[in-house]
Amino acid sequence: MTTIIDGKAVAAALRADVAKDAIAFTGKYGRRPGLAVVLVGNDPASEVYVGSKVRLTREAEMSSFEHRLPAETSEADLLALVQKLNEDDLVDGILVQLPVPRHIDSGKVIQAIDPAKDVDGLHPENAGRLMAGLPGLAPCTPLGSMLLIESVQKDLSGLHAVVIGRSVLVGKPIAQMLLAANATVTMAHSRTKDLPAMCRSADILVAAVGVPELVKGDWIKPGAIVIDVGINRLPPSEGANKGRLVGDVAFDEAKVLAGAITPVPGGVGPMTIACLLQNTLTAARRRVGATA
Ligand code: NAD
Repeated sequence: MTTIIDGKAVAAALRADVAKDAIAFTGKYGRRPGLAVVLVGNDPASEVYVGSKVRLTREAEMSSFEHRLPAETSEADLLALVQKLNEDDLVDGILVQLPVPRHIDSGKVIQAIDPAKDVDGLHPENAGRLMAGLPGLAPCTPLGSMLLIESVQKDLSGLHAVVIGRSVLVGKPIAQMLLAANATVTMAHSRTKDLPAMCRSADILVAAVGVPELVKGDWIKPGAIVIDVGINRLPPSEGANKGRLVGDVAFDEAKVLAGAITPVPGGVGPMTIACLLQNTLTAARRRVGATA
């Protein structure tokens, strides 16, 4: 029987734990953990993400500080806001919603965030800490994906994990996390030869590509854990499927052979914000010198 991994349920349980811990933090330190979210411009998808982040931060008993800036905001003004948030004691986590408008260098903005408040885990210092096995703040989507893997398989020791995609946001960090969990990790990408054969050798297959239903059913090793990070909206022209959200894995085919698989939507997606809240709590605790 294939396990359909319920990301919504795992995420809800994590958010409830974070809320409980946030209440305890507030009782002890006299203030709530705080997350500042900065949105530049009015990209409709970003508006939706930011709206959810603000709502779920409040539901998790934390303070939410929202900064909505016009699309024509200069890079210098955005960097000045980041600096102000770095210095604000009530702010434990800073998230600048990406993408930022083209005239702003997102790399510069990420590097301006205090690494101790970098709850998106994208600052090069945090990327280095992840690679070195040092405590830091790790990116939320890979963190959430690892929690989903561990919800069905606690010990990953010696398992072969194949990660498709080598982005800084997902592919590279999850490969580091799988390695730290003692999996044997192969990274595949757009230049990989015979991707189907490589996937067939995976006990754990993570797809973070952005190509709708790239991974076919016969690429799956029987019993494998399949984590589909992709979120792709099919074009309106595709008949009955128009506008439907699909992952990077052909779910209906893959679930026949997989031991466990995440659906899209309702798999990795809900874990990202839950892990963002967990990172904010972690950052708050570290900033006051508390341990979990
Ligand atoms: P990206 O575009 O930065 O990276 C994609 C990677 O896939 C690249 O490394 C590229 O080499 C590889 N690739 C592209 N075509 C390929 C092919 N045909 N075969 C093998 N590899 C190929 O994307 P990203 O930011 O890592 O995101 C990947 C997907 O995950 C997207 O669909 C994105 O929407 C989704 N995503 C979801 C969440 C979430 O919360 N669930 C968060 C971030 C990203």
